[in-house]
Amino acid sequence: MTTAFDQLADRILAGGAASADDAVAVLRAPDAELMSVVAAAGRLRREHFSNTVKVNYLVNLKSGLCPENCNYCSQALGSQAPVLKYSWLSKDETLEQAGAGLRGGATRVCMVSSGRGPSERDIDKVVEMTSALKDEHEGVEVCACLGLLKGGQAERLKAAGVDAYNHNINTAESNHDNIVQTHTYADRIDTIDKAKDAGLSPCSGLIAGLGESDEQLVEALFALKELDADSIPVNFLMPFDGTPYENTWELSPARCVKILAMARFVCPDKEIRIAAGREMHLRTLQATALHVANSIFLGDYLTSEGQDALADLEMLRENGFVILGMDAGAFEELIEEHRARAAGATDRVAGGCGSSCGDGCGGGCGGHDEPEGPAIRRRGAGTDVAANA
Ligand code: SF4
Repeated sequence: MTTAFDQLADRILAGGAASADDAVAVLRAPDAELMSVVAAAGRLRREHFSNTVKVNYLVNLKSGLCPENCNYCSQALGSQAPVLKYSWLSKDETLEQAGAGLRGGATRVCMVSSGRGPSERDIDKVVEMTSALKDEHEGVEVCACLGLLKGGQAERLKAAGVDAYNHNINTAESNHDNIVQTHTYADRIDTIDKAKDAGLSPCSGLIAGLGESDEQLVEALFALKELDADSIPVNFLMPFDGTPYENTWELSPARCVKILAMARFVCPDKEIRIAAGREMHLRTLQATALHVANSIFLGDYLTSEGQDALADLEMLRENGFVILGMDAGAFEELIEEHRARAAGATDRVAGGCGSSCGDGCGGGCGGHDEPEGPAIRRRGAGTDVAANA
């Protein structure tokens, strides 16, 4: 039986486009029709990305201490979340962290710093880090995420070899001022425009679960389509204790898959990345979501811990996906290396799910009955503990 979602996919594959009404209908599909939604959106995913998954790795260059008041953010002004707080990593620390992610299977390194926006000295640092990273790792893609840009900064990043710039719109323009007051939606668009004008690939996405309506989620996706963002990270709110959104749980796993599917229908040929909150909110539907989305972050997030990198990679392989840019043999070897490392770690520390369960897996290992708040990152950048990569 051909479903309405199949007909929508047919139309898009024939060169048409999803309307706002189509997008709302995807979000409001009954859970009983979830697999019809996935099957139809999956046709678009396979048309443009086959069975590849782009694997990205976050390096938090500077954590906490932000003067902005983004309500959802554990690093914001006024946040009491006990996240790691540190100023800029050195170039060597950045190379070490990025190298761990690249050896772990990532092809893009996302270098992120908290703050309203970079100073010229901050740009100097990122320029130096980028050129060292590109010297050491041939073919690595570098994305910078440094906040609001001033004139000329995007050009400096581009000249240094930075490939992409991330600046999320986060939510619909009509909801923006409810979630942050220290900068405007227009400020955000201005930075994305500056990045595009400088020739950087625009990466911009959203956070679902902030109290927005279906129409506002659709509004945000159409804004990203209009911006022509090449990559679209879809974050699911991680309600950190000590932030205004603590204990806010608006999302179900099926809802998250529908949001990703809606993004695929609206932006069929763009990189749709399942970003923060993947384990916590998609739970057992993580792999199902990959039939719609085509990109993930490996391992941990900026201030919270994700599931083990090995679990990420096994999930890809067990569901028939391959890492973009890596041949099948290399992927097998990578998984074996991770397994050997995990076995060594298990010999040293008995028990658990391999991700410091209890405070490490974000509820993603299947060993928890209810959502738990985000597990604060205590490894990788800014610590002496090995990265989860
Ligand atoms: S500007 Fe970035 S780091 Fe600062 S509060 Fe907002 S999201 Fe967090």
